[in-house]
Amino acid sequence: MKGFRNLSQIVTLSGVHKKNGRRPLMEDLHIIEDGAIIFDGEKIIWVGTTSNIPDNYKDVPLTELQGHVLTPEIVDSHTHLIFGGNRAQEYTMRLNGADYQEIAQAGGGILSTMNHTNALHKEELHSLAKERIERIHSYGVGTIEIKSGYGLNIQKEIECAEIIHELKKEFKGHVQIFNTFMPAHAIPSGYESGREYLEKVVYPSIEQIHKKSIIDAVDIFFEEGYFNKSDTETLFEFCKNLNIPLKVHADEFNDNGGASLACHYKALSCDHLLKTGAEGIKSLANSETVATILPGTGFFLGKAQANARQLIDSGAKLSIASDFNPGSCHCDNLLLIASLAGPALKLSLAEIWTGITLNAAHSLGLKDQGAILEGMKPRFSLFKVNQVDEITYNWGRNFAISV
Ligand SMILES: [Zn+2]
Repeated sequence: MKGFRNLSQIVTLSGVHKKNGRRPLMEDLHIIEDGAIIFDGEKIIWVGTTSNIPDNYKDVPLTELQGHVLTPEIVDSHTHLIFGGNRAQEYTMRLNGADYQEIAQAGGGILSTMNHTNALHKEELHSLAKERIERIHSYGVGTIEIKSGYGLNIQKEIECAEIIHELKKEFKGHVQIFNTFMPAHAIPSGYESGREYLEKVVYPSIEQIHKKSIIDAVDIFFEEGYFNKSDTETLFEFCKNLNIPLKVHADEFNDNGGASLACHYKALSCDHLLKTGAEGIKSLANSETVATILPGTGFFLGKAQANARQLIDSGAKLSIASDFNPGSCHCDNLLLIASLAGPALKLSLAEIWTGITLNAAHSLGLKDQGAILEGMKPRFSLFKVNQVDEITYNWGRNFAISV
């Protein structure tokens, strides 16, 4: 057993946990001033104020942490951090006024990252991803979801999933990694339809990777010009039969009914939601499927944002993730994105913290973390500030300390 004492604040989120992450209010953060906590490797044993530490824990070594704030662990539940090359040129073209089609004609987009990724050896992709995980962790993020999806052929997609699995083992006990398999990220040239690519590449690769038992979920890009509704349904049925949890990119370019479909299939999360209409919002409000917004993408591309206000007010479980990727959001700092999302999407402090901790954990099926409560996993983030609001108030500054 070990623990901390004299923490300026422990932001427990106990009220948020009770409400299952829906419509969180400031008082639901349930902040303990001058807090203390006792835990072992598996679970939180006791939490309260320093003056109330029970006598039977008097011999437990406690680290003095005055001037620090402890929060539930920050979770980045949506990244594409395993890729080769960069798309800085495309970014410049966009700033200079080029549209999506002009960029695609100049060889940009997901398919350009596919070429860069396929040009790298396994060791090179591994070390790039490792460096990115370490940087993300330095901001106080302790759980990171990583998607494959820039190989876009059986061999490279499986290789990327294997790299993520190796990294998961390497970072064990330190950073928790969630391995999402996403060969259905785009349709490379040479395939006439989404269906043909699913049949020739996606299903065979899922079958192979499933046998290795190394993936945690499957994701698909359900958008106009990519995979359509019937492709998405077929993939969902395929995964359901194999008992693989689902995630989906949906409603980014237009309202394609992705949110309702995700809820129907009990997906862990439905991500982007820039254009989700009343029906999709209603489905999410009545479902355990987490509504994950990715405001960094809107900021980076200059797009209108998701209707986060309506999602939360309707009762949906809202999570915020970075979407870190080389094209549409080259920002790996979830706290910075959350700081900017507050005023831009009209989110309260309680909604921000719920979105990057409890609901983000739920969007990965992790129900035993996301709040600092007895019996839950001892997964925290620690910051060198006196009050929780200082963390996002000082946007772009890093106060995280290794726990
Ligand atoms: Zn994404």
